[in-house]
Amino acid sequence: MLLSLSLLAALLGAAPTPPSQEFRVTWLGHAGFEVVSPGGTRLLIDPWLKENPRAPEAWKDLARLARTPPAAILLTHSHGDHAQDVHTLARLSGAPVVGTGETLRWLKVPEAQQHTVNVGGSTRIGDVTVHAVPAMHSCEPDGRPLGYVLVLPGGRSLYHTGDTWLFGDMALVQELLHPDIILLNVGGGRYGMDPRTAALAVRKYFRPSVIVPMHFGTFEPLATEPQAREVLGSDPRVHWLTPGIAASL
Ligand SMILES: [Zn+2]
Repeated sequence: MLLSLSLLAALLGAAPTPPSQEFRVTWLGHAGFEVVSPGGTRLLIDPWLKENPRAPEAWKDLARLARTPPAAILLTHSHGDHAQDVHTLARLSGAPVVGTGETLRWLKVPEAQQHTVNVGGSTRIGDVTVHAVPAMHSCEPDGRPLGYVLVLPGGRSLYHTGDTWLFGDMALVQELLHPDIILLNVGGGRYGMDPRTAALAVRKYFRPSVIVPMHFGTFEPLATEPQAREVLGSDPRVHWLTPGIAASL
């Protein structure tokens, strides 16, 4: 007779093992990530790969990559350093693409694969609830940039900030979705918040257990890794990921 683990645990008087609450996160360089939930839902966020100098070589062959389609591609906004490969990846993989309608139409994502969202909305992908939240940036030709908060059934959550400066409504992202892990844009330069401002955003608005700096060191004039480490390196919650190497967070 076969017994389920939870029934066996109940018979033995032990509490059943809670399901894992860890995300498996692989940085693809810049703002690109593969995120896999404990239930196996595989999401690609801002997968800029072919011309991304920090993307691992193994990830640059889009045709090969598309042979194992992700559950969805999440796109924060239309800029090339986030969106350049999305049309090709969508076409080759058939995967749904999550983003604003304006951005997905502009990128000519096949209509059947357009999984449109907007600020405040949420959608379920496998065992992950994806919440679209604001980002303080721009997006061509219209529409607006987003961040995403991914929430597991047990409540643990991961926030990809997208490209942004800090903004007061981050307090509401914390109040409503209280992210445990933050993939934090720290690159600064001419395009967004620098490492010092990013550290202030976390200090002022969030209480994560894990912070993953991103969108630095890819090209001029973004902050270099030593510059980012100089500001964030003393925070024990900061994890410096190596592109292509998966981490359980
Ligand atoms: Zn960017």
